[in-house]
Amino acid sequence: EAEAILRRQNARESSARTYARSFPIVPARAQGMTIEGADGRRYLDCLSGAGTLALGHNHPVVTEAVRRTIDSGAPLHVLDLATPQKDDFTEALFATLPSAFADHARVHFCGPAGTDAVEAALKLTQTATGRRGMLAFTGAYHGMTTGALAVTGSVAVKEPVAGIAADVTRLPYPYDYRCPFGVGGERGAELSATYVERLIDDPSGGVTPPAAMILEVVQGEGGVVPAPDAWLRRMRRITAERRIPLIVDEVQTGAGRTGAFWAVEHSGIVPDVMVMSKAIGGSLPLAVLVYHEDYDDWLPGAHTGTFRGNTLAMATGAATLRHIAREGLTERAAVVGALMMERLSQARAALPVIGDVRGRGLMIGVELVDPEGVPDSRGALPPAPRLAAEVRAACLERGLIVELGGRHDSTVRLLPPLTITDEQAETVLDRLTDALAAVTA
Ligand code: PMP
Repeated sequence: EAEAILRRQNARESSARTYARSFPIVPARAQGMTIEGADGRRYLDCLSGAGTLALGHNHPVVTEAVRRTIDSGAPLHVLDLATPQKDDFTEALFATLPSAFADHARVHFCGPAGTDAVEAALKLTQTATGRRGMLAFTGAYHGMTTGALAVTGSVAVKEPVAGIAADVTRLPYPYDYRCPFGVGGERGAELSATYVERLIDDPSGGVTPPAAMILEVVQGEGGVVPAPDAWLRRMRRITAERRIPLIVDEVQTGAGRTGAFWAVEHSGIVPDVMVMSKAIGGSLPLAVLVYHEDYDDWLPGAHTGTFRGNTLAMATGAATLRHIAREGLTERAAVVGALMMERLSQARAALPVIGDVRGRGLMIGVELVDPEGVPDSRGALPPAPRLAAEVRAACLERGLIVELGGRHDSTVRLLPPLTITDEQAETVLDRLTDALAAVTA
């Protein structure tokens, strides 16, 4: 049966399908961190719907919210009308926000995906400032629609698309391991900040007057690259001094993932605009912009869309946000994440293909390298994308779903649900290190 489903889908689905290629499985059932294939095989899921499933699959809090909403007879689709479910979601969301931000914030419900909310953020700031430029970073990922793609860094995904909108100035993200200045550490981050500041102020630097700066606190698709808190504070200062709105894309980092409810809390920066999606919908599609009221210059209907108020997503989202807060899952992510990173760092001694272990909370990256290669001035070894793909396949054979990411597709990314138990964390690490050992033997 599974084979037949795969064959039919592969024959009819577009060649853009991705996960279906890396993970040729047919999920039939799922609970918590476990997915069971139609063939009866079980997998521990460290992809979690690309970081969406904060509570894992089919958490009772989520399934109950779906049942309750359906049983209540609430209309499931109402465009952007006010509903008790939307009211409740907004209440739950605002309760999670830092008060310095929440006290002056407006929420805008976007089309259902993260990329829709990024588009809305670009438009919002362009409208409010009357400027066209965008400051964005190397390694950034913000989505696949053309505006979001313009601020995304990857040339491989942009190049085939003609006529991308927005005038983007690309700036060096403080990627410690592959430091754009070849030094890494605090010094590397400092050089990045100085470069950003000088370029923006250089009248001959070719920078189109920016409507906003957009950044991720921890780059996800870019290879799980956390920005240092001091660097983030400098970006906040640089943008504030020049009255450039700061958009923080929390699509992947939000809802407890990094060990703070919102990743901006680690550094204490208060952005002008926050982009949220993935986990805030509690498994169902939902995306919002939350921004300072000063930017609320939109005319009614300036940014609309049909699916901006999915009742079920509001209900599952509210239930999920409240559950994360009530159960202390944010703190749990910080503790388990630190333990996992510590064990992975220890594994480096026996597994020289591990070039770098990094992350924040339960957003963990293991960058694989060629240990025989020539190190750069910072000590970074050449990336090993082919090996990484083999490791992903070897993990799957061992019942572990992990995805890759990073500039060179050589970083194994771990995005387990925040509900991961200590035992599951151990099993994940055992399977991953076993796969690494097997592939490099
Ligand atoms: N921003 C970030 C930081 C993301 O990680 C993603 C998705 N991986 C997006 C935006 C786009 O979200 P979506 O895939 O839902 O359009």
